[in-house]
Amino acid sequence: MVNICCIGAGYVGGPSCAVIAYQCHDINVTIVDLNQARIDAWNSDNLPIYEPGLDEIVFARRGKNLFFSTNVDQAIIDADLIFVSVNTPTKKTGMGAGMAADLAYIETATRRIAQVATTSKIVIEKSTVPCRTAQSMRTILEANSSKDIRFDILSNPEFLAEGTAIADLTKPDRVLIGCLQTPEGFAAQQKLVDVYTRWIPKEKVITMNLWSSELSKLAANALLAQRISSINALSAICEATGADVDEVAYACGTDSRIGPKFLKASVGFGGSCFQKDILNLVYLSEQLFLPEVAAYWKSVVTMNEYQKMRFTHRIVRTLFNTVTNKKIALLGFAFKKDTGDTRESAAITLSSYLIQEHANIAIYDPKVSAKQIKMDLTEPGVGTNEADVNKHVTVCQSAYEACAGAAAIVICTEWDEFKMGQTDYQKIFDSMQKPAFIFDGRLILDAPKLREIGFRVETIGKSI
Ligand code: ADP
Repeated sequence: MVNICCIGAGYVGGPSCAVIAYQCHDINVTIVDLNQARIDAWNSDNLPIYEPGLDEIVFARRGKNLFFSTNVDQAIIDADLIFVSVNTPTKKTGMGAGMAADLAYIETATRRIAQVATTSKIVIEKSTVPCRTAQSMRTILEANSSKDIRFDILSNPEFLAEGTAIADLTKPDRVLIGCLQTPEGFAAQQKLVDVYTRWIPKEKVITMNLWSSELSKLAANALLAQRISSINALSAICEATGADVDEVAYACGTDSRIGPKFLKASVGFGGSCFQKDILNLVYLSEQLFLPEVAAYWKSVVTMNEYQKMRFTHRIVRTLFNTVTNKKIALLGFAFKKDTGDTRESAAITLSSYLIQEHANIAIYDPKVSAKQIKMDLTEPGVGTNEADVNKHVTVCQSAYEACAGAAAIVICTEWDEFKMGQTDYQKIFDSMQKPAFIFDGRLILDAPKLREIGFRVETIGKSI
């Protein structure tokens, strides 16, 4: 029986290790976290994260070979393999503030492993971290090893996308496992390969050196974000020229070298990873004295900020240059559909800009709580405070409630329920102020049909 411990019961550790338990009934998986409330939620009927298919997997194995606990030390002691999936937020102060990853949680977790382990362990870096973090973990672990206890370190970055995590984990494009190129490193790597190949075809489990593996994760996210910023940059040209961004994306995507995926223009990317990973890459490039490389990747984030700002300007301009005291319905607050995660969501920036213009915003998201929305909008750096939020923000229980009496609707998240056919736009139109505006920030609506109803429609990447 192999024992696996996962430190950090978040968006990465929770689903990825729950899937291991689901696929391998003879492996004991214990997911630990210092956050008691989070562990209590994992042990309840109401899991702390929303992810299609996650409930079934957790409910099927919990209490059998899948456990959630705050007893970090015991789980470390019992484990053969330890995944470290703690948070690595962008630093807010000090060296590299606003860019570098804060590795304090990684270091604390690593030191804890070194302190309490009584047998040899394979420690697996799962959180996305700057290239060469494994080296620091290794140094800490080696300084604390003895002749009876050795620590081997692996890098196994997680490529799951929120909203499709379970499908991504069950049938991944690839699994990356990096190790030190030593006999011991290869042996450790093989142990983890043996776990994944229980349900993933061998050829999809890619092995490489530690640093390539760490950098590959940052590189993959940077390339994905760069595609979005590229199509968003083109959307600005489309709006100014009368070209249609969907047509341009389709035309480009049929080139097999480019491919059709991830070419959807939008109000901007969000999520905890893209911006953070690019900024990590920027910081790394600066540290390596590669300023041109740093500037290149930085521009991907700059374009994303520009897109959010540009969309807000379009809203204000269209609403006769003022939104003061106008009710604006924001549909969607999560950074994308099928997740309740709001980290770096474009909706936060949009809300903040609109509040600063004194609009009254009515927000509805099927999976984000009022508490979360208010917390996001009062975070330092967002630009709005509690008084602003109390005065200008209402959180609603349905799209209909949010839109009633509104001057405009802004689609921020591409939830299926906002699509035509699932939401009754005639009913919404009838309940709104006239003229009734819709700003489609996700290109999910049928603009001609909406115009037939009577809406004035403004879509990203379509002419103004
Ligand atoms: P991610 O999206 O990368 O999974 P999250 O913030 O959702 O990040 O989850 C990381 C989790 O790691 C948090 O729940 C946090 O409480 C937990 N964590 C951080 N440091 C430690 C630690 N030293 N021991 C146990 N859990 C930790």
